[in-house]
Amino acid sequence: MDSFLQIQSATKLYHTPEGGTVTALDDVSLHIRNNEFLSLLGPSGCGKTTLLKCIAGFEDFDNGDLLLEGSSLKGTAAHRRPFNTVFQNYALFPHLSVSDNVGYGLDVAGVSRRERNLRVQEALEQVGLRGFGARQPHQLSGGQQQRVALARSLVLKPRVLLLDEPLSALDRKMRETMQIELKALQDTVGITFIFVTHDQEEALAMSDRIAVLALGKIQQLGAPKDIYDEPVNEFVANFVGTSNIFTGLIMSKTGRTLTLKTANGRELTATSDKFSVGARARIILRPEHLKLRGEDGDKPIEGTITQSVFVGSEMHLHVDVGLGRIAIVRHRHSKGGLGEYFKQGSHVTLFYTPDAAHVIDCEES
Ligand code: ATP
Repeated sequence: MDSFLQIQSATKLYHTPEGGTVTALDDVSLHIRNNEFLSLLGPSGCGKTTLLKCIAGFEDFDNGDLLLEGSSLKGTAAHRRPFNTVFQNYALFPHLSVSDNVGYGLDVAGVSRRERNLRVQEALEQVGLRGFGARQPHQLSGGQQQRVALARSLVLKPRVLLLDEPLSALDRKMRETMQIELKALQDTVGITFIFVTHDQEEALAMSDRIAVLALGKIQQLGAPKDIYDEPVNEFVANFVGTSNIFTGLIMSKTGRTLTLKTANGRELTATSDKFSVGARARIILRPEHLKLRGEDGDKPIEGTITQSVFVGSEMHLHVDVGLGRIAIVRHRHSKGGLGEYFKQGSHVTLFYTPDAAHVIDCEES
């Protein structure tokens, strides 16, 4: 196993002014690979920033350890770790030019003027800011300021770049552009990026692997496709993408094909190597797996349209499939197409392929 950066059984407690205790990290273990783009993804308060701060050395774990290539970093000050952090608010020096912002760390390190200028140029080129060196931060857009912050970190040639929601202040279009550029940049510089975000689309688009966190624990660690296609629990299924979740009892199983019966008597079919008759389980169907026209081998679910939402390229149909449970179906919008068919209150039959349905444990909450 690649043991580049290891977080071992890390726990972090905070004492609040109200006299309580918050467990920000609860026995977290994580092995981060050399040169990977790893995202820490989770809702507000799940502990992702705390984990990033502890890796950076701005905070310490209460218990557990952090090892870089097998050596503990416990007690190593932040500025002595071969890491650099890019913050959400850029934190540029407003009175310094772009070049001087980028070169600041090299000046402090006493690097010769000639080398410093070469490295600043190289870093500005890496982030697409060639020719911007003489500007002041206020003469740049938000996206350009974030590029300066990136260049300032990269110029120091860290082994790990820690990024704390660096794109969250940008508008949607600029975010999408920066997502692609950031991933390309990571490929070019070939170092490990640890990227904190609460935005699942961002994490899916950029990461080699994602660690999904909730309540100070890692819920799932895996490649974006694995996390999306095979969420391990209800939290991950709901947090990463949209899920239609059906809970019930497994009534029969033949080979890998099982039938689950929900409380309202609905029967759903899925395939799984796990689970046996009598077990409680949940079946997850993603919106893109629910179709309005079936094919051979598909299974039906009856429902009533409660809402149809036009989102440009497609319609999102909200379908009541019983007991108030709403399924979301995405239907590609066609000009002058099936408008009448989607009228609120109309009856629809949805179809899905059992192979597309994912089955998870029914953990008691
Ligand atoms: P966000 O996306 O909102 O930044 P997060 O996932 O990064 O959230 P953390 O900042 O790591 O979450 O916080 C984890 C938990 O620890 C939260 O419940 C938070 O209130 C608490 N916490 C963080 N810092 C402190 C502190 N200095 N003192 C007390 N509690 C803290």
